[in-house]
Amino acid sequence: MNIILLGPPGAGKGTQASRLMADRGMVQLSTGDMLRAAVKAGTPTGMQAKAVMASGGLVSDDIVSGIIGERLDEPDTARGVIFDGYPRTAAQAEQLDELLASRARTLDYVIELGVDEDALVARIVGRYTCAHCGTGYHDSFAKPQVAGVCDKCASTEFKRRPDDNEETVRTRMEEYRAKTAPILPIYDARGLVHRVDGMADIDHVTQAIEAILDR
Ligand code: AMP
Repeated sequence: MNIILLGPPGAGKGTQASRLMADRGMVQLSTGDMLRAAVKAGTPTGMQAKAVMASGGLVSDDIVSGIIGERLDEPDTARGVIFDGYPRTAAQAEQLDELLASRARTLDYVIELGVDEDALVARIVGRYTCAHCGTGYHDSFAKPQVAGVCDKCASTEFKRRPDDNEETVRTRMEEYRAKTAPILPIYDARGLVHRVDGMADIDHVTQAIEAILDR
């Protein structure tokens, strides 16, 4: 089963993808995570992407579809993939069709996480993760049980994404509205889109997605 999680920045795509990965053994393919890893490693792709990401703009279609294509050739993706943050443009949606068709795979569901945009900025600017195990937290909505200590691995080091500041978030939202939201009708016409209320609490969102996938 291959699915796309679609929604604006801060809608909860990454959170839900990690849960589906744990529950169903599917593989999460987050182009944002892959690009951040490339930036950190200083690869040519990372060097090209760094400034664009810092501004909240979109990295080129060929770069992101290239890294997705390479990843889809790794055997762990054969059991099912959750695309998180990809595709983000109509051109990427077309490239994804080709990448899947050439590997005899299909797209089964597009889950749209519907959210109230005003709430998104607050969600994003307060979020951070454990630097050691990646568990996600939030200044207001999801604090660790003991302040400054990760619930999962007890690490005391945390990190924030450099693009999770208000100005960049606004640009990312605009990019979503202008370039990503228009791909929904393409998938809607194929009957693939299911809408989930992304403002509900995290467990409810997971249950709603699981119910769609179990139909
Ligand atoms: P994300 O972690 O999905 O919020 O992505 C962080 C940043 O990486 C975005 O603001 C873009 O600059 C870049 N990025 C991630 N995925 C894509 C994509 N599919 N197409 C273009 N740029 C992307």
